Amino acid sequence: MQKLIASVACSLLALSPAFASAASTSTPTSNPIVQEAPLRGHLSFLSNDAMEGRGTGQRGGNLTVVYLEAQAIAAGLKPVNGNYRQPVSIAGVVALPKESSLAIQAGGAALPMQWSTDWVWGPGDAQADHTIHSELVFVGYGITAPEEGGWDDYKGLDVKGKVLVMMVNDPAPTAEEPNRFGGLGLTYYGRWTYKFEEAMRHGAAGALLIHTDKSAAYGWSVVQNSWLNERFQLSKGKVGTGLQGWLTDAAARKLFTAAGQDLDALRAKAERKDFKPVALNASIGGEMKATVRHIDQFNVAGIVPGTDPKLKDELVVYTAHWDHLGMQGTGADTIYNGAVDNASGTAGLLAMAQVASRAPAKRTQMFLWVAAEEQGLLGSQAYAEAPLWPLDKTAANLNLDSLNFVTATRDINTQGSERTELGKLAAETAEAMGMRIAEVKPDLSGGYFRSDHFNFAKAGVPAFSVSGGRDYIKDPEGSKKKQEAYRARYHQVTDEYDPNWDLSGMVQQAQFTLNLGYRVANGNKMPEWKSGDAFGRYHQSSAK
Ligand SMILES: [Zn+2]
Repeated sequence: MQKLIASVACSLLALSPAFASAASTSTPTSNPIVQEAPLRGHLSFLSNDAMEGRGTGQRGGNLTVVYLEAQAIAAGLKPVNGNYRQPVSIAGVVALPKESSLAIQAGGAALPMQWSTDWVWGPGDAQADHTIHSELVFVGYGITAPEEGGWDDYKGLDVKGKVLVMMVNDPAPTAEEPNRFGGLGLTYYGRWTYKFEEAMRHGAAGALLIHTDKSAAYGWSVVQNSWLNERFQLSKGKVGTGLQGWLTDAAARKLFTAAGQDLDALRAKAERKDFKPVALNASIGGEMKATVRHIDQFNVAGIVPGTDPKLKDELVVYTAHWDHLGMQGTGADTIYNGAVDNASGTAGLLAMAQVASRAPAKRTQMFLWVAAEEQGLLGSQAYAEAPLWPLDKTAANLNLDSLNFVTATRDINTQGSERTELGKLAAETAEAMGMRIAEVKPDLSGGYFRSDHFNFAKAGVPAFSVSGGRDYIKDPEGSKKKQEAYRARYHQVTDEYDPNWDLSGMVQQAQFTLNLGYRVANGNKMPEWKSGDAFGRYHQSSAK
């Protein structure tokens, strides 16, 4: 029934005078209707074993790019600068501790350090060979946060050429300032990725992070798993500092003691705004070797040009990552199909593009399928570093990562939209669809930093992921169980497509995203960040 109404609405739209004039000056009076059949078709194809799990650097990934490019053309999207593809240059890096001679001197003597048990390191700039000779400086949390009352752990110290030792996480709330650094929630300043980025912005030669179970929220084995194996990073653009690494708490203690410092006392000082960096009586030096494998991947993008002579220079960009984990291992099933994560979002974006291309809005809309999300949001990072459209003319990024495969809901999750005026627009969009916004919960695990919209937010573009609701209309209890059972399939070979899935939730989620996109694309002005938001300041500085 729903499908019938939808297709009638679509054909009415196609015949309406409002639509006929859309291509010239005005815009359609109602939004295009996302169709279930193409969404299902794309989803079943992309998650088929034949696509081999759409792995980065694998045949399945290459096939996916060919498919998306063909479908973008078929949907009527226009290329950007004559091209549907944007190159994403990735390096797979493995440190070679046995071939390296990296060592620490502290208090005038060599500090015995065991690879893997005491520390791990590797290049942050996709280079195989480094010769390092640097003094070590402790910079506390290594945070520069003007909107946190002018917090600055660097205090203007010139750290060029130095290797910085720092703590992960962010300063804890105090009785006087219970809300500093997001209170109990994790801010981006606490993430290890931020620490490395800030060290690079300050021109440091490298950064070593001090691990504790509590500050990292995971054990040392998690660090080892990642750093003893191949790590992926962009090989072009703003690559990281030459040296990146982690020290165990015990190794850091050994280092600070040998350098004549009291780590616990320095940690206590680092909780205060008046903390000043401390040059350690210690240095790091030697050869650091790694193997570097280059992998050329692609983002796929196409646009629906806007109709308003002025506003068409501004953009709404919809994103979904096309990659998943590909083929791995030697088990009975080696294909990580990634049906929910993220063939669903990829298919949703295709179904949206198919109808949007026939109903342009005032502003231009871009449909962007990004590469290598599972390897660290690399495709969206590459886009943000070499945007296909000026970022200060990009009104919003709406991202889809893992659609609701259970059934339609009364609510929709727009966590992160409250940081910008998109929050209000999302609420209006939900209301117009007879839905409501799911309650915003404190972001304790830093969920906002873990999908592709975040690279847009970091670049100053109002951005968030539209996630499925939980208030299921049909069979609430059984539906909830279906959703919870997905946890066991997440990032496993069992994330497979089931032709019996009720796709009303996916269609609804894609429709909400498109409706919100049209609200922005036809709005009077581009959405703004709420004042004082950590990412808003990047927007203001880039707009200058
Ligand atoms: Zn995903």
